Amino acid sequence: MEDFIYQADRLHAESVPLELIAEEHGTPCFVYSAAVMRRRIEELRAAFSGQSCRICYAVKANGNLAVLQHLAQLGCAFDLVSGGELARVKAAGGDVSVSVFSGVGKTAEEIRQALDAGIGAFHVESPSELERISRIAREMGKVAPVSLRVNPAIEVDTHPHIATGFRGSKFGIPWEEALETYRMANRLDGLEIRGVACHIGSQLIDAEPIVMAARQLVGLADQLREEGIELEYVDVGGGLGICYQDEKSPSLDPYAEGLREAIGDRPLSLIIEPGRYVMGNAGILLTRVEYIKHTTGGHFVVVDAAMTELMRPALYGAWHAIMPVIKAEGRERLNCDVVGPVCETADYLGRSRNLAVEEGELLAVFSCGAYAASMGSSYNSRPPVAEVMVDGDRHDLVRHRGEADELYAGETLRQS
Ligand SMILES: *Cc1c(COP(=O)(O)O)cnc(C)c1O
Repeated sequence: MEDFIYQADRLHAESVPLELIAEEHGTPCFVYSAAVMRRRIEELRAAFSGQSCRICYAVKANGNLAVLQHLAQLGCAFDLVSGGELARVKAAGGDVSVSVFSGVGKTAEEIRQALDAGIGAFHVESPSELERISRIAREMGKVAPVSLRVNPAIEVDTHPHIATGFRGSKFGIPWEEALETYRMANRLDGLEIRGVACHIGSQLIDAEPIVMAARQLVGLADQLREEGIELEYVDVGGGLGICYQDEKSPSLDPYAEGLREAIGDRPLSLIIEPGRYVMGNAGILLTRVEYIKHTTGGHFVVVDAAMTELMRPALYGAWHAIMPVIKAEGRERLNCDVVGPVCETADYLGRSRNLAVEEGELLAVFSCGAYAASMGSSYNSRPPVAEVMVDGDRHDLVRHRGEADELYAGETLRQS
């Protein structure tokens, strides 16, 4: 896939053989391609050329500092959902003043931190949150830039766990209450209304629902203008899908064109918040086969990576391509489940795969740039794994493999 390709029988990340990375940094290890990230951003820029469109990369997809640094250097702003992500964006040199703070449960502390950092806008999800932000801004003697995240009640064709814009979702302000909530925002002190936002779901293969949502948001902006509330931007969220198996990723032109038409000649700028689209296929997970186990129930390839690095198969039954790092010709393929060492039946990376692989060999799990490392856990006391970024023939360790004592560094024994 793209920059993870075989040269002769050896899988490379750009110009670097993956076996070399495994040798230097061990496994499991995430490997990211700076070139793929660059290409995704350039493609988005090209699709929206001539239009005012800000890319706020969704940090939750992959918040590694070097990833954020690279995207900041490519001119991206950020969509963040916690104080932790705010700290990451600052540490990576990202521009907080053009970034947005989303999420249904912002704490008072997080709101203070974001106001202190000069956040571009809060994307507010409830009347109570508006009141809280207004109060904190007044206490701090600041004016908080706010937009409402509305729920346009659009059903999308994706896994139910990653649909967010349907009626009854916990996300956003119900469509019928949007106007009233804007009026409330307009009345409250310490707030300055900036725009309107939505995010209807993830891994969308068809961009049309996003365009439909945009039309609704623009309609709302028109209504608000009549009431004297002028919005600066419409933010359509993320959601663009990628190819994991045989899905077609949505083509950018109808997406960009649809959004351009929805806005027309209104003085509204556009924000998009892609996460998966930028990072999904910019990373792989490198893992080594520990054991091959034959049982009456089937064949298991037990690898050193697990649901702690890649939760998506366990969480959504997601499918990820798994390929050998060094292709061996003439071997018999085994129909097998690729599983991790974690003590959960759901701990698998792939089911019913045909692999010609032996103990000690390396496998690459594809499409692991987004929602893999960032969803990682230390369950079974597994420390975080190494992360490497490749750029041409250069490769840098961008997260060292964690040690066990780092896992419990914050814990204390009781005095006897
Ligand atoms: C998760 C999320 C995104 C990114 O979604 P992708 O499907 O990865 O593009 C963008 N905006 C908001 C508000 C989100 O919650």
